[in-house]
Amino acid sequence: MNFEEKRNRLVDNLIKRGILKTPAVINAMRKIPRELFVPEDARSSAYMDTPLSIGAGQTISAPHMNAMMCEYLELKPGDILLEVGTGSGYHAALCAEIIAPENSEQRGHIFSVERIKSLAETAIKNIQLAGYEDRITVIHGDGTLGYPEKAPYDKILVTAASPSKIPKPLKEQLRDGGILCIPAGSKSFGQNLYVIKKKGNKFETKSITGVRFVPLLGKYGFNS
Ligand code: SAH
Repeated sequence: MNFEEKRNRLVDNLIKRGILKTPAVINAMRKIPRELFVPEDARSSAYMDTPLSIGAGQTISAPHMNAMMCEYLELKPGDILLEVGTGSGYHAALCAEIIAPENSEQRGHIFSVERIKSLAETAIKNIQLAGYEDRITVIHGDGTLGYPEKAPYDKILVTAASPSKIPKPLKEQLRDGGILCIPAGSKSFGQNLYVIKKKGNKFETKSITGVRFVPLLGKYGFNS
């Protein structure tokens, strides 16, 4: 089975499990070659529904988690998105395909912050290889501070586990009516995925499910 066949089989399975629902998210999952975003020796496992090591002690999330977070963010063409934790750049590429599709006039954009320089550099290369460099800007820095230069954001995606107290800059940099999707809890076990909607100066928080992410480190994250 080639990569495309494996990718389609994985997507079909995620649809069957009720995780993938929205046509634009399904299309992005069918289109982005996940094998380009994992180290060469892990390519044969690229379409297993598990996290994979990407070096520097970090992981690319399992595909069902990417799918789930894209669904909960209610991404739309034209959205301006902040991602904290670029990692491999795969999740950013998925989002880019949804918020700035090829034939649409709506040009959404992703600002994605990564604290480990070597990963930020590899992510930039991966994103170029997949052809999304015009829709994603990778920034090397502490994403717990957000990225105030381009705020406010329609959506914010955090792909590392925050302490229970959600970083204040992220809540501040979310647009009124915007959605923040973030895992939070303890540093290793006992984390939940939260979907937080900003309504004026109020935040509506929904807990989705138990999850396991690498820790969000930094000023408003865990200490390194
Ligand atoms: N979204 C990624 C998965 C990333 S794993 C993908 O699709 O591959 C989580 C990433 O968050 C790691 O690369 C880690 O280095 C990064 N991270 C942790 N704390 C951070 C912070 N304060 N700012 C930016 N990135 C951070």
